[in-house]
Amino acid sequence: MNDQMMQNFLLKRASLTPDRPAIYFADQTYTFSDVFDKAFHIAGQLTSLGLKRGQFAGVLLANHADSAFIYLAFQLLGVKAVILNNRLTAHELAWQMEDSDSLFLITEELFTLKSKEMEKSLPNVTIINKEDLFNSPFVEPIVVNEMNLNEVCTVMYTSGTTGFPKGVLQTYGNHMWSAIGSALNLGLTEQDCWLCAVPLFHISGYSILMRSIIYGMKMVILDSFHEKKAIDLIENEKVTIMSVVSTMLTRIEEELGDQRLPEHFRCMLLGGGPAPRGLLEKCMFKLIPVYQTYGMTETSSQIVTLSPEYSISKLGSAGKALFPSQLKIIVSNGKDAKPNEAGEILVKGPNITIGYLNREEETAKRIVDGWLSTGDIGYLDSDGFLFVLDRRSDLIISGGENIYPAEIEGVLVSHPNISDAGVIGMKDEKWGEVPIAFVTIKKDMKEEEMIQYCLEKLAKYKVPKKIYIIDEIPRNAAKKILRRNLRLLLNKNMKR
Ligand code: ATP
Ligand code: MG
Repeated sequence: MNDQMMQNFLLKRASLTPDRPAIYFADQTYTFSDVFDKAFHIAGQLTSLGLKRGQFAGVLLANHADSAFIYLAFQLLGVKAVILNNRLTAHELAWQMEDSDSLFLITEELFTLKSKEMEKSLPNVTIINKEDLFNSPFVEPIVVNEMNLNEVCTVMYTSGTTGFPKGVLQTYGNHMWSAIGSALNLGLTEQDCWLCAVPLFHISGYSILMRSIIYGMKMVILDSFHEKKAIDLIENEKVTIMSVVSTMLTRIEEELGDQRLPEHFRCMLLGGGPAPRGLLEKCMFKLIPVYQTYGMTETSSQIVTLSPEYSISKLGSAGKALFPSQLKIIVSNGKDAKPNEAGEILVKGPNITIGYLNREEETAKRIVDGWLSTGDIGYLDSDGFLFVLDRRSDLIISGGENIYPAEIEGVLVSHPNISDAGVIGMKDEKWGEVPIAFVTIKKDMKEEEMIQYCLEKLAKYKVPKKIYIIDEIPRNAAKKILRRNLRLLLNKNMKR
């Protein structure tokens, strides 16, 4: 790949608009010049501890302004950050540290239990708490003034919803193009301020930090999502854009009651998983400006987003590929699908990963001629808008008909007494497979009642043959339904 050199993002931003607010966290505002000073100082401290350009180093941190400073210090030094998900177990985290050959782990006292546990299986790793890092001596750092856009900036492991997580390599160029694509779609004004209540360790949160630096835009960091806090921040900090997943949006919508979000709030970017239609309709009713989006760790955040002018006429669609990117749907013979025909979603563009860390075979299998096979199924309507159906691995085929669990789950949770739902296929002699559901309920409810409700909303073959009431739907750290765990649960239930 040709070298594409650019001034270090943070250096550039701090020289362009040093006095603009950059980060707001816990009642404190930091300007871009403050952010640079903090990151530069930390870069010096990391240098004194032995971190060097080109290394991979693990980072296990909470949502906090300090975490943003540390990530940016890594960028100043050209150290590749292996960004760890703090909701994972010590065992899972140690595996990712080993998989990425990271010799340093920057973490904090909050995660002492985990890091102590990790230490046992990582004898060669130097573990440093940020509290100690911030008290370390300062050695003049060698700052990467000019960076190569093809260089790896971050490694993020996929959520592991479908199997083992894979380390996704994200370059500086991937992050920049992702930020550009978003701005070209949503527009950008001097008033813009993005609320980050999603994890900074996830691409949804990290991409907000990158946008803040690239756009010169203020971001507000929330330590963890809380609907009331989020609504207050939108009001008080004049937040204009917020990233959410559907469980967060559900809570905001419920918390709002009869209230409306303030006029200045212009975009609720909804991604990360299927958007239940009932939720989208409720938000439309309350004039919450929801923009559905589709993306993944491999695309460095959104790659397909519904433009504002189509938010109502194409309700339920994830939109079209952003300006720098392309999208197509392929059917089983490798041909392009016809309009409204479902197939695998393939995406291409400068925001797509250069591959999986240490997994050349998997990379070659998943990325061909720049086209990434997403493993998701969807279709384009006759106007070219994408509708995401579900993951290919979760598809249920019943009597030759394709059934997408996410659609049935959406219907189940639209019932006021049902709080959560997960659907999988069960082997069936007559139909091959039939859908069955697991639900959690808010109020006592009979199975027949739920089935009756589904019969009113779904074609008969999609109605679950059996609905089990359980205490909790198994979800992973990214709050995604672990349908493979539901399958285990089903086997257990069947044996009884
Ligand atoms: P793994 O690849 O390890 O199984 P994962 O795919 O869950 O984990 P992420 O990269 O965090 O890890 O999630 C991306 C996935 O989330 C997409 O491939 C898709 O399945 C789902 N997703 C994202 N946006 C949407 C959307 N708008 N509608 C439906 N599904 C979505
Ligand atoms: Mg994935």
